[in-house]
Amino acid sequence: MPFATSLKDAIRTIPDYPKPGIMFRDITTLLGDARAFRRTVDELVQPYAGTKIDKIAGIEARGFILGGAVAHQLSAGFVPIRKKGKLPHTVVSVAYSLEYGLDEMEMHEDAVAPGERVILVDDLIATGGTATAAVELLRRIGAEVAACVFVIDLPDLGGADRLRALDVPVRTLISFE
Ligand code: IMP
Repeated sequence: MPFATSLKDAIRTIPDYPKPGIMFRDITTLLGDARAFRRTVDELVQPYAGTKIDKIAGIEARGFILGGAVAHQLSAGFVPIRKKGKLPHTVVSVAYSLEYGLDEMEMHEDAVAPGERVILVDDLIATGGTATAAVELLRRIGAEVAACVFVIDLPDLGGADRLRALDVPVRTLISFE
């Protein structure tokens, strides 16, 4: 595939996935495009270069890919936030609502030291339920959430505003109305 000219062009949209009526924004095409991947990571970190960021927290699973690259770029550590039952050491957990029912996410209780500055990374923010729960976990163990960054925002669903209402700075690169 040739390199995409804009980051938005590098994202593939799959109609009716995972169910009818959903337009799924697929970042695997962006990750597979060397220039687009590099530019995405560069743009995500740009405001934070040279500032004190101790850890990057990535939400399973696409947040791991982006978060690892962001952590490398900012010389920060990486912390995984995972679905229930995947982490081997003592965890803190939080329940959060999905479209149907509840789910739980977890992180190691000692993954971040109190007062450390953390940036939360995921591929996409929709309603903000996932990211809000992750911020709650980080704050519970004493982290200072310096920012939440996402490649894609679905602004009609209000997630970024929901996070800003919690006093968390939010950075997104691309919007799909
Ligand atoms: P929220 O909790 O409603 O903000 O949904 C965001 C979470 O769902 C993130 O972890 C995303 O990875 C995932 N997600 C929701 N819609 C999409 C999509 O269209 N493409 C990729 N991930 C999505």
